[in-house]
Amino acid sequence: MAAMAYNENRLMLEQISCDCGLQHGVPDMDIYIGSGILGQLPAYLGRRNLGTHVVVITDNIVHDIAGRAVVDLLRQAGYAVKLCLLEREEPLLPNEAALGEVLLTMDTATEFFVSVGSGTLTDIARCVASCTGKPFVSVGTAASMDGYTSVIAPLLHGNQKVNKPAGYPEVLVCDIEIMKTAPPAMMISGFGDVVGKYIAKADWILGRIVNGETYCPACVSIIDDAVGHCVAAIDEIRQGTEAGVQRLIEGLVMAGLTVLIIGHTRAVASMEHNMGHYWEMLKLQRGEDHPSHGTAVGVATGYVLRFYEQFLSADLKDVDLAAIQEQRWTAAQREQAVMQAYGQAVGRKLLDQEDNGLISWDEQLRRIRVLQENMDRIRAEIAFLPSLAELMAMYERLGAPKTAAEIGIERDLLTNSLLYGKDYRNRYSVFNAAWELGCLDEWVQAVVDNE
Ligand SMILES: [Zn+2]
Ligand SMILES: [Zn+2]
Repeated sequence: MAAMAYNENRLMLEQISCDCGLQHGVPDMDIYIGSGILGQLPAYLGRRNLGTHVVVITDNIVHDIAGRAVVDLLRQAGYAVKLCLLEREEPLLPNEAALGEVLLTMDTATEFFVSVGSGTLTDIARCVASCTGKPFVSVGTAASMDGYTSVIAPLLHGNQKVNKPAGYPEVLVCDIEIMKTAPPAMMISGFGDVVGKYIAKADWILGRIVNGETYCPACVSIIDDAVGHCVAAIDEIRQGTEAGVQRLIEGLVMAGLTVLIIGHTRAVASMEHNMGHYWEMLKLQRGEDHPSHGTAVGVATGYVLRFYEQFLSADLKDVDLAAIQEQRWTAAQREQAVMQAYGQAVGRKLLDQEDNGLISWDEQLRRIRVLQENMDRIRAEIAFLPSLAELMAMYERLGAPKTAAEIGIERDLLTNSLLYGKDYRNRYSVFNAAWELGCLDEWVQAVVDNE
């Protein structure tokens, strides 16, 4: 990646110079990416003075791939290692049972944690480390999502998804030799999480134009590089070559870092993520399997692109303001719709979030006028979006799923995610614009009908 510089496999994180108005921080984190670097782990840890008593957290699948090697390396280097091996016949879930097993493995001498695995294992370690006030280290084993550098742990409590605020690892080690042995589905998931950034950028531009949102060109340029380099490496990623896997994990790590740089996820997540979260939550409520995070995001990105095509080809000059005002929901109508779409428990939580309410008619009118006056500018500024055909060609080359049906998402979940994904959090997107223009139902119908 052009902007990426290494010093002996350690990523050099430079100060960001940007006058967008946001605070830009550089995380105090050592990130190592390279082939065959796992053996350096004790040296990497030594530089951080994390202590000598460590709990290594892994599952039965990753234990054979890298977990055992990590335990051996650390013991040989003199660390007192306790192994928390999460043995499961089904895929490991980041739930109360897993968190409890870590607590039962640690003791008062424990000074830090090392997770060996991808998203789920990192999130388990992230949560326990944060709750016990201790540092943790992540040994990543798959380029499957951008959450290694996250500060939120998505966990399960019963069958409910909960997002726990937590910390980022002090050290992240991505050994490409290990990562390239991960199943292709995990790389497809990673690629989906990266291409979703197209939508995040388009929606952020829309938010800047319509609502004057602060927009960070430095973060966007990091994301542009991440996406561009992954898209250029599709064939290599599919073949699982070292170069391909390296581009993918670099893209994911860099995209994830923007969250730490500006302290929020505006640059990396918008409606494509909300739709993925919706599918996951509803599948959990139904007691059914759900697609992996990045795979869901990748498929959702295709539907959001279809929706953007509706928006960009619409003629907003003669919208019927009286009809739009007439259609406006009362708070009670909205509450009922959100509760029905998300289920009582999640719906209530979303409605109780701050600033997640209805806007006034005056504000709606203002936004409609800004959209009407700025459509040419909007079309020009979001011309970078790939066409649906271009995205589908990428998925074809990668061997990635293209439709909701292929990943087990039924028609009702797809439709509801398009209609109510915007209610997942208060973040302006093209779906909010459509809602405020009175076009949401019609455009969602067109997207679902023309699949
Ligand atoms: Zn993501
Ligand atoms: Zn900035």
